[in-house]
Amino acid sequence: MSQQFTLGRGLVWLRSDLRLHDNSALYHASKCCEQLAAIFIACPDSWKSHNEGDVLVAFRMGCLYELQLQLQTKNIPLYFLEVPTFSGVPQALQKIIRRLKIDALFANAEYPLNEQRRDNAVREKLQRSGIQVNYYSDRTLFSPGSVRTGSGDPYRVFTPFKRALIERCTDSDVKPLPAPRKIPLTDERAQWPRSVTLEGGEKLNQKVPGKLLHFSIEAFNSGVVNGWKTGEKAAQKRLKAFSEIVNKYQAKRDFPALDSTSRLSPYLNSGAISIRQCVGMALKLNDGHWLGGQDGIACWISELIWREFYTHLLVDFPRLSKGKPFREETDQIPWSYDKDRFERWSRGETGVPIVDAAMRQLNETAWMHNRLRMIVASFLSKNMLIDWRWGERYFMQRLIDADFASNNGGWQWTASTGTDAAPYFRVFNPYSQSRKFDPKGEFIRKFVPELASLDDKGIHDPPPVAGYPQVICDVGAGRKRAIELFSKLK
Ligand code: FAD
Repeated sequence: MSQQFTLGRGLVWLRSDLRLHDNSALYHASKCCEQLAAIFIACPDSWKSHNEGDVLVAFRMGCLYELQLQLQTKNIPLYFLEVPTFSGVPQALQKIIRRLKIDALFANAEYPLNEQRRDNAVREKLQRSGIQVNYYSDRTLFSPGSVRTGSGDPYRVFTPFKRALIERCTDSDVKPLPAPRKIPLTDERAQWPRSVTLEGGEKLNQKVPGKLLHFSIEAFNSGVVNGWKTGEKAAQKRLKAFSEIVNKYQAKRDFPALDSTSRLSPYLNSGAISIRQCVGMALKLNDGHWLGGQDGIACWISELIWREFYTHLLVDFPRLSKGKPFREETDQIPWSYDKDRFERWSRGETGVPIVDAAMRQLNETAWMHNRLRMIVASFLSKNMLIDWRWGERYFMQRLIDADFASNNGGWQWTASTGTDAAPYFRVFNPYSQSRKFDPKGEFIRKFVPELASLDDKGIHDPPPVAGYPQVICDVGAGRKRAIELFSKLK
């Protein structure tokens, strides 16, 4: 018996969910629509104003290109359109939907405030013209806003949030969905035009462009961006490779010279892999245990839940998307806005070897190890007392895994301005962190070659070395000043 569909033509609007498998919007659209197309709308002005950088955007375009090839195997064409800002998206989608005679739109929800506003505007506009709009919760295990304390409030502290999430999670919440079905090319309606001119003259076509306004993205054409292979297949390969070492994660994850973390963050953030696929792999290896079982696996699951926690906070506390600290009183701190000193930090020229090595890792590879993110963020916001938002913005511009929720959460945690933040009196000492987590100075030597000839002891806090800068600030005095200022907050 042939399958009965409730809808004729569906359109899947792809954004940060660039994979074929376990993609809620794609899967559900393919279940209820007889015919299916996909669209990606680039908004370079909005991306730029959100501080997204070349590497992030190039990686996204690379993942999109590979997804287009996979969609072709399912007879689902992918259209591409460039619209400068989010505000132009509702109208553009309306024109596309009219032109392609679409009955329903499907997309996976995004959570920063401007993305939520864009999606609400799209829903309003399309529903007024009788188009069904379906948004799915897909980026996180649970829909942000749905994990609540007994009294119905959002969680502000990680550990009880994690406990509540684990208690609530059933097997079906982590069960990945299959790829969409292959659409048979049986009748005329299965034929989608290769390109279309919309009312107003905009061109909609099936080519992922090699160039984009504001961004240098040519790198994606080779399928590798800054050394990172793009796309879903690369993500799955990385997950598989990591599954072989995840049991050692807890013991090794803090040492930046070791390649002991998953490096899945760019894939999770572009959506080339899903959270369910990651948690599902970990639970399978840990005999279904979220807690206990193998330490390394339980610890990795916990890190994935931090991502979930920060995404939930965005929805519950919209001020986080408006440049505001979670703890509003921390805006009384007399933050410094010294551009020269900030630029020295950005370039990796502070004279503190572990900080400089970390910043150079970021500048050269577009990624930074988690332990180092905490060290450099603490150094900037506490020892140098520079506004944490400057650091947050720099990370957004440079990271290949830049994600508003995790980046904002990580910066506010370290600067002690956030929910469940590091207590203000716990300031990372970059020298002892360096001795503990890069004991032989291997990581420093790799990124700060000026110091390569120093011995394992001297490399962490070196004497004057020709060509290497003097320390930018009195590290101890900076720590003391930050603690005093934070202790006076009302
Ligand atoms: P793994 O250690 O293998 O962890 C697996 C996954 O869990 C990560 O890919 C990530 O999705 C998630 N995760 C791990 N640690 C955290 C954490 N502390 N917070 C939230 N999610 C976490 N992560 C981003 O994805 N994008 C960012 O823009 C970002 N900015 C950060 C800024 C600061 C100041 C700090 C302290 C942390 C930031 N993080 C960010 C979190 C973390 O550093 C990275 O997720 C991690 O280093 C990515 O490497 P990995 O994939 O090997 O992680």
